[in-house]
Amino acid sequence: MAEEELSRLALDEESDSDEEGEVELGFVQAPEAPWMLRRQHFPCKAGGAAAWLDADSVPRTPDSCCDFCEEPLRFLLQIYASLEERSDTFHRTLFMFMCSKMECLRRDQAEQKKPAQSSSRSVKVFRSQLPLKNIFYSDTPSRGKNDRPLTTGVDLCTWCRTWRGEKVCGGCKTTRYCSRQHQVEHWRAGHSSSCKTQAPVPTNNSSNNLWPEMEIVLGEEERDEETGNTLPIVPANQSLALNAELQGFEEASGEKQCWANFQARIQRAPSQVLRYCRNKNAKVLWMRPDDQPTAVDISPCQLCGGPRIFEFQVLPQLLYYFGVDNEPDSLDWATVAVYSCSNSCEVEGYAREFIWVQLPI
Ligand SMILES: [Zn+2]
Ligand SMILES: [Zn+2]
Ligand SMILES: [Zn+2]
Ligand SMILES: [Zn+2]
Repeated sequence: MAEEELSRLALDEESDSDEEGEVELGFVQAPEAPWMLRRQHFPCKAGGAAAWLDADSVPRTPDSCCDFCEEPLRFLLQIYASLEERSDTFHRTLFMFMCSKMECLRRDQAEQKKPAQSSSRSVKVFRSQLPLKNIFYSDTPSRGKNDRPLTTGVDLCTWCRTWRGEKVCGGCKTTRYCSRQHQVEHWRAGHSSSCKTQAPVPTNNSSNNLWPEMEIVLGEEERDEETGNTLPIVPANQSLALNAELQGFEEASGEKQCWANFQARIQRAPSQVLRYCRNKNAKVLWMRPDDQPTAVDISPCQLCGGPRIFEFQVLPQLLYYFGVDNEPDSLDWATVAVYSCSNSCEVEGYAREFIWVQLPI
């Protein structure tokens, strides 16, 4: 990825065009082998538990919780996106979490324009990065099944296996929890009997409310054959089917156009769940023309003060692969765009980055 990144940047400097750069599309699939999604293998993955890069500095409450309902956030996905041209970003991962309640995501809408320090969010993203030589992982690239991290990291919650397990069960004194809520859920799911016998309870993702674990595979988006353009412009009245779907907002032709462009672009690879393009000219593919951030809405990096740039967006197709119901109160979004520090500045542990959520019409 990093080499392409470099050549992309070089191209951009030569030409002054607004050429947006190649987009890498993310697709989900069952992992070839589950061990490949462990942290020592630096995965790109969705669902399951977070595979923390820095296993000692796992974010704490309140960062780990939804700012509305105060329950622990659920792990959505992580993207391994090293900037190998720099020694301090040899390993670099972005981790994304979300509250699973649509009610909270709707409240989040009103907050995303507020300054980062005072906004309450139900969606959060964290950046972590490490040099090749670090205390957590070997610097020799074997990446085999038997590779182990060099340190065990902090104790994690027995139930979500993502957040710090700072509370210990009073009965067995062994199981650990990030929150009272996860202790209660684990108790109800069988720890009430296994606590006394000390028998470990096998947990699987469906029982502990994690989204199903999948590998994310990245591949380049194909360009439009005829024009070489990556942004096809679809005439607003091109398709009868589109028109039928769009009857609901007849007067808003900008909306139609935006929606049609979104659909046309997605149709090239309908199963894509993510679009990655860390490039200064990268454009977010929005579903609607309103409800987009302006430059001032994207707050600067809280560590170095540098501007943030668009890095990737997550598409609602992911919810389909997660098996989220399509009910009125089910979690849903049009797109979720992540903006990260353009300097990818030095960070101890984890740095919050900026997220903009566009909800469906
Ligand atoms: Zn919530
Ligand atoms: Zn937990
Ligand atoms: Zn117990
Ligand atoms: Zn920064």
